[in-house]
Amino acid sequence: MANAPFVPGMVNAFVPGAASLSPREAELVARRERLLGPAYRLFYQEPVHIVRGEGVWLYDAEGQAYLDVYNNVASVGHCHPHVVEALSRQARILNTHTRYLHETILDYAEKLIGTFPAPLGHVMFTCTGSEANDLALRIAKDHTGGTGIIVTSLAYHGITDAIAAMSPSLGGYVKLGDHVRTVPAPDLYRSGGRDVGQTLAGHVRDAIADLEAKGIKLAAMYCDTIFSSDGVFSDPPGFLAEAVEVVRAAGGLFVADEVQPGFARTGEHMWGFLRHGLEPDMVTIGKPMGNGQPIAGVVVRPDVVADFGRRARYFNTFGGNPVSCAAGLAVIEVIEREGLLENARTVGAYMREGLRQLATRHEVIGDVRGAGLFIGVEMVRDRSTREPDAETTANLVNGLRRKRVLISAAGPNANVLKVRPPLVFSKANADQFLGAVDEVLSGR
Ligand code: PMP
Repeated sequence: MANAPFVPGMVNAFVPGAASLSPREAELVARRERLLGPAYRLFYQEPVHIVRGEGVWLYDAEGQAYLDVYNNVASVGHCHPHVVEALSRQARILNTHTRYLHETILDYAEKLIGTFPAPLGHVMFTCTGSEANDLALRIAKDHTGGTGIIVTSLAYHGITDAIAAMSPSLGGYVKLGDHVRTVPAPDLYRSGGRDVGQTLAGHVRDAIADLEAKGIKLAAMYCDTIFSSDGVFSDPPGFLAEAVEVVRAAGGLFVADEVQPGFARTGEHMWGFLRHGLEPDMVTIGKPMGNGQPIAGVVVRPDVVADFGRRARYFNTFGGNPVSCAAGLAVIEVIEREGLLENARTVGAYMREGLRQLATRHEVIGDVRGAGLFIGVEMVRDRSTREPDAETTANLVNGLRRKRVLISAAGPNANVLKVRPPLVFSKANADQFLGAVDEVLSGR
């Protein structure tokens, strides 16, 4: 394996000058920088130039196929014909907004709300997950009269000013708000045998006490229910419940951020919070919701939003437009018709088993975890000390990319492989992925 330079900051970010690029790619990189400015990041040592997608495959400008083991937005498969047909049919007829009466918006809202436990009875549409979290924050502050927020140490919830201030994964330069407290993510692998649920609840109790000591009342705890950016934590099921009780006892709300785990990805349930037997006060959703159409939203208990709705108006020009809603409705139809929940469960279990088999031959694989088709693989220098191995992780991600297999990495030590393919991933796709991992780790 060629050595990748390890750069702190965003995991798996392209570093200009670290690898030689073809003239065409070098030109595109330079053009991006000139036109889009300095804040954007590309993936991989050698960026990928994609021009077409279909199912689990992405194709570059030369027509070479890449196996997509990473993209959870095109969750029912890139350019799924049922979704493309639904949104283009609606685009040919009408596209407006939510200030006119329109059946598609309501048909979609009804279908979507039907996938949630009964107390969650309203949906408010946005265009992005960040906007959804921002709206949930406004509602939580209004409902509780508090401002305090609890998130996990490396949480990511989005890009607005208010949400970036509660997204520690953006790095130290982006300051957290004075009203924000972080708690360590519930990490079973590094728990030293302690009960992760109890430990988390203890940290949440301390965070609330610290807020109260500064005169700050709790508004909400937000959790990505698969803890994606923290390093993928899903076990044991139920570990979130005690922390949520602590939050409620302090008068706070629990917001389940389902932008990553939602829409059947975790294999057993449509929503990640159900793994923990919870009923959140609000749920924020996005990414896979429109299979690429920018649609997101907040699903909320009616009593939580009642006063806010009376006192504050809500309108989002593009949020919930008929074309996006047609795409959203088609996504749920595909999940149901193609049995993608079941597929995420069986292929996910098959992948984890395959990775555990590889771990019997590759000492560097310290832990394999996750639920359904959201899998984390923690890479370590030494299994007994569990010392993180960011370098091997970066080399593996880039080695797979050279074999045209796309994944990325996450976690505080940049040593957790993030394996998160479209839900239509098959066992044959899994075999190709596992074979490629084996080859790269074997230096082939
Ligand atoms: N929450 C989580 C857990 C996310 O992963 C993301 C996006 N990576 C967001 C919120 C923000 O979503 P968006 O990029 O659509 O604003």
